[in-house]
Amino acid sequence: MRPKKSSANLPGGPLSNRRCRSMRYFPLLGVLSLFLTPDAFAQRTQLKPPWNIYSPQTDMQEGKQFAQQAEKQLPLCNDAKVDAYLTQLGLRLAAKLPTGGVQYPFEFHCVNDKAINAFALPGGYVFINRGAIEAADNESQLAGVMAHELAHVALRHGTAQASKASLAQGAASIFGGLFGGGLGGAVLSQGVAFGAGSLLLHYSRTAETQADVMGTQVLYDTGYDPRAMAQFFEKLEAETKGKTPPLFFSDHPSPDNRLARVDEEVAKLGGPPANAKRDSAEFEAIKREVLALPLAKKGAASGGAVAAGGAPPAAPSGNFATYQASGYALKYPDNWKKYADSNSGEVSFAPEGGLLQGPDSHTALAYGLIVGVMPLKEDASASDALENATQKLIDTLEQANPSMKVVHQAARLRLNGQPGLSTYLSNDSLAGGQETDWVVTVLRPQGLVYFVCVAPQSAYDNYDKTFSSILDSVRFAL
Ligand SMILES: [Zn+2]
Repeated sequence: MRPKKSSANLPGGPLSNRRCRSMRYFPLLGVLSLFLTPDAFAQRTQLKPPWNIYSPQTDMQEGKQFAQQAEKQLPLCNDAKVDAYLTQLGLRLAAKLPTGGVQYPFEFHCVNDKAINAFALPGGYVFINRGAIEAADNESQLAGVMAHELAHVALRHGTAQASKASLAQGAASIFGGLFGGGLGGAVLSQGVAFGAGSLLLHYSRTAETQADVMGTQVLYDTGYDPRAMAQFFEKLEAETKGKTPPLFFSDHPSPDNRLARVDEEVAKLGGPPANAKRDSAEFEAIKREVLALPLAKKGAASGGAVAAGGAPPAAPSGNFATYQASGYALKYPDNWKKYADSNSGEVSFAPEGGLLQGPDSHTALAYGLIVGVMPLKEDASASDALENATQKLIDTLEQANPSMKVVHQAARLRLNGQPGLSTYLSNDSLAGGQETDWVVTVLRPQGLVYFVCVAPQSAYDNYDKTFSSILDSVRFAL
């Protein structure tokens, strides 16, 4: 997750950058302002949502599905007062959001998690950890985080990321194929993140700058101190210097000149209004309410995930159960459970305790096997089609799992008589240390069928045989 220089920081530095920007914006907007707009509108940066192959309807549909999963998987605060407060504050901010006329079904949820984090799914489903409320010094800082999240929604950054992944993969859509958000825990997974969820929430630095600028504008328009958002981010960075940074920054990487860019926007807006709202008695009451909430029980999240750090799962049984899908059949240890996702067609097989929940509520498959199909766009009969499709799969996995690395390049093998490729990757494991991900791919009429075998490196030897037995049992439909 280390900084990649954003395009906003090319040689020449922020000063020359600012000069470019004013040359680009002032001629047109200056003229307009003479006639119809007050100063604050004339000078403000006009933000253009990035390229996106999806419609706002897809944002709402996919966002809703992921939100339903998140509600099941995350420990919610379940405090009517807190939820009502967040909803009322959130809707006030959302009312000032430029959505291009799209009516998003905004929802605001409090998550009973001490980690300082918040996230918004496409379509306007916003989740705010209690830790973020507890860390905010005043209402305008909390409003700042929410305005930033809402800006990601209005700029449709989640599906813009997904658009790039679709392009990289040559697929018409990543939804319902390789991604689909299946697999309990894919929404917020850190270990093996195969779901679109993680892709929808890992923003680029360019997207972050856009969300900062729009968030600042929304704060200003709602009557809050427009500097509050950037001040909150600065405060979090300063307080955690030398320690593990808040989770928030792993999804929202800080652009290099975050504060300077926000100050620039505040200046364009005419400076912070003298009567800007900073705090409210209501916020203070809600913060006390949240601080007094009992902690969520570990493992409270459903979806089969258990808290990381517990005993490792029982050894895989030598007796096998049969799974029959439309394009293939396989056998898996009969003491493992099957997690099928009707949306994506992705199926996971894992032992009890194989789906882990980390200290920050993120869940991931740490032991088990995932089977899915990645649809293909290009000619499957080309001589290098298997290699190319496998490379696209690996690229997409690496994009969704920042710590993932190939350790053994693709080697040829046969699966049920079909030519396939075997690739080994490593990744951070929620069970601690590193995990091994053995990826086996085969081209079939419906696309690239992939099998991902996952176990911690330290326990991999105990699973190797089982994975081989499962793969040996695979029978493709004729
Ligand atoms: Zn962000």
